Amino acid sequence: MKRIDEVNLRNKTVIIRVDYNVPINDKLEITDDNRIKESLKTINYCLDNNCKIILLSHLGKVKKEEDKLKYSLKPVSERLSLLLDKQVTFVPETRGNLVKETVLKMQPGDIVMLENTRFEDLNDKKESSCDLELAKYWASLGDIFINDAFGTCHRAHASNVGISKYLPSCLGFLVLKELDNLLPIINNPERPFTVILGGAKLSDKLKTVENLIKKADYILVGGAMAYTFLKANNEEVGKSLVDEDSLEFVKSLDKEKIILPIDHIVSLENKEETRVVDKISPNEIGLDIGPKTRELFKSFLEKSKTIFWNGPMGYYENPIYQEGTKYLCEVISKLDVTSVVGGGDSASCVINMGYKDKFTHVSTGGGASLELLEGKELPGINI
Ligand code: ADP
Ligand code: MG
Repeated sequence: MKRIDEVNLRNKTVIIRVDYNVPINDKLEITDDNRIKESLKTINYCLDNNCKIILLSHLGKVKKEEDKLKYSLKPVSERLSLLLDKQVTFVPETRGNLVKETVLKMQPGDIVMLENTRFEDLNDKKESSCDLELAKYWASLGDIFINDAFGTCHRAHASNVGISKYLPSCLGFLVLKELDNLLPIINNPERPFTVILGGAKLSDKLKTVENLIKKADYILVGGAMAYTFLKANNEEVGKSLVDEDSLEFVKSLDKEKIILPIDHIVSLENKEETRVVDKISPNEIGLDIGPKTRELFKSFLEKSKTIFWNGPMGYYENPIYQEGTKYLCEVISKLDVTSVVGGGDSASCVINMGYKDKFTHVSTGGGASLELLEGKELPGINI
């Protein structure tokens, strides 16, 4: 794998695979443009090298024809144009005559964005199954391929791994920055190394949890994940979210380094009132860590030199249950530590709560950052 700054890009037509899989609401407004902002360094570098730039990205999952309405990249091209203060020509196709004509007309410094690569998934999953004929076609549009889509590096799709088989390829600055920040965490963290785990998707994260338990000194578990751990210890968790399928896995873990919540913010189903409890009753749902747990977690964070955080501490989509997550942001923001956040929801929390600049690194990749921390080689990196 080559770095972007090891390749001669002068006057070339570059195809950049970016990760513009950004959250979009029902009004088709982008609610978090961090991934677009983080891609500007590579784009500007190519502009400085007098390149013609063709951008490819996926957005959401495209499984049926209606999904195309919600997941067009047009609003993304408009936001990019605003951020760059430069025209970005959007082509509402992934291949065909319009693509060909637009690319033929390009001048150095021009930027063209093709439509969502996953529109090709309606055509026999051509993008997601890494169809090589499609990859070859996209590769034919340019001279050099730059993979800057860190969030997709754990997948071998036509628009990343596929294209790299047909063109000289390199990694862009965003991917390089992710690797520079994430690899030392797993290979050589300054100790004590504390991992905060939260969120909901324990079954997707078993391997990461297993690997991090080996590497970390302390594991602080909050969010819905904590209830699976508490239930595995035979504690009452009421109607809290539990991942039943992962209970056996959790029971098998070495518990020595694991610190669990000692109190909770709970509610009753369909009710807004909350209570703070040490023990959850059968009809209650745990939705955030309680104040004693915040202090307990703080005491571990304060003695750490490296912190990796994945997963919010509560059901943060409702502001009533954001306190635990916010509190940990506030604590970490005051510490002189290496602090890295990985995970789609976790990153959104840190950014939307206003703490992005207080962390050493906020990863743009959810699954990709976790797979890297599992110790896996990502197909999109080994191009
Ligand atoms: P990430 O995207 O950072 O990896 P996840 O996707 O695993 O994180 O988890 C985020 C989700 O977890 C959010 O939707 C949040 O509401 C949910 N969550 C966190 N704590 C709780 C809880 N106590 N009960 C229900 N859902 C929770
Ligand atoms: Mg998530």
